[in-house]
Amino acid sequence: VSAYLKAHNITIHTPSSSTAVVPMLSFSQLDEHIPQALRDALKSFKEPTPIQACAWPTTLRGDDVVGIAETGSGKTLAFGIPAIARIAPSTPQCVSQNSKKSKGKSTTTASISALVIAPTRELAIQTHDTMTMLGEPFGLRSIAVFGGVDKEPQKRALREAGAAVVVGTPGRIMDLMDEGVCDLSRVTYLVLDEADRMLDKGFENDIRKIMKGCAPVEQRQTLMFSATWPEAVRRLAATFQRNPIRITVGSDDL
Ligand code: ADP
Ligand code: MG
Repeated sequence: VSAYLKAHNITIHTPSSSTAVVPMLSFSQLDEHIPQALRDALKSFKEPTPIQACAWPTTLRGDDVVGIAETGSGKTLAFGIPAIARIAPSTPQCVSQNSKKSKGKSTTTASISALVIAPTRELAIQTHDTMTMLGEPFGLRSIAVFGGVDKEPQKRALREAGAAVVVGTPGRIMDLMDEGVCDLSRVTYLVLDEADRMLDKGFENDIRKIMKGCAPVEQRQTLMFSATWPEAVRRLAATFQRNPIRITVGSDDL
């Protein structure tokens, strides 16, 4: 383990209340924690990236996590796989329905269980595509919400079809909350992706309001991903996470 951490320049800060993190060096170590259909999503890859290797064991046991790693390091699956693993068992009405047959015609209005907040429309769409792919075998729908486009189709999608996963940009999520079509009170898996970028774009107030609309911190798992670890991101983590484990891939001198 220590050779792996050293080779990839990984630093893990563990609060005194948690046990040490043992990285998952191969995908097969996921087998006892996640359904086979999720494992299948990794078929084309050889091994976990460092952030995945360290984030999976902690997120899958329910910890709050801060992941600091550069772009392109596989962060989407680092939080996406545990998100679906967590919410899939709690939505049996979705598991029993054949998602292929009922696509677009589903009458089950699932409540939003996982929320991913992303800084841009492009990122929201990309992440939504990944979440859709991961959730499909379980009948878990994802909806992307972002500004710059007509709000009505997004409102209709939320109201009529519903979704277990919402991926969106802060401004539009806030709008939809204010309009009463985006109830986050049952969000038990919350991800802030590219937290530093979102704060740079001035989204701090929106993000704080959105996070307050989610299930309380004791019932919720909160993950934050960022390329850097500035004071503003630390403050968000301090307010909205519980004993987070902080994983840094690359220089810890941020
Ligand atoms: P980040 O969010 O850190 O910028 P992404 O999650 O967008 O990175 O992933 C970057 C690319 O790496 C994507 O094309 C993704 O499919 C790919 N990828 C993810 N996990 C692995 C892996 N374990 N091995 C190889 N490639 C991977
Ligand atoms: Mg990313």
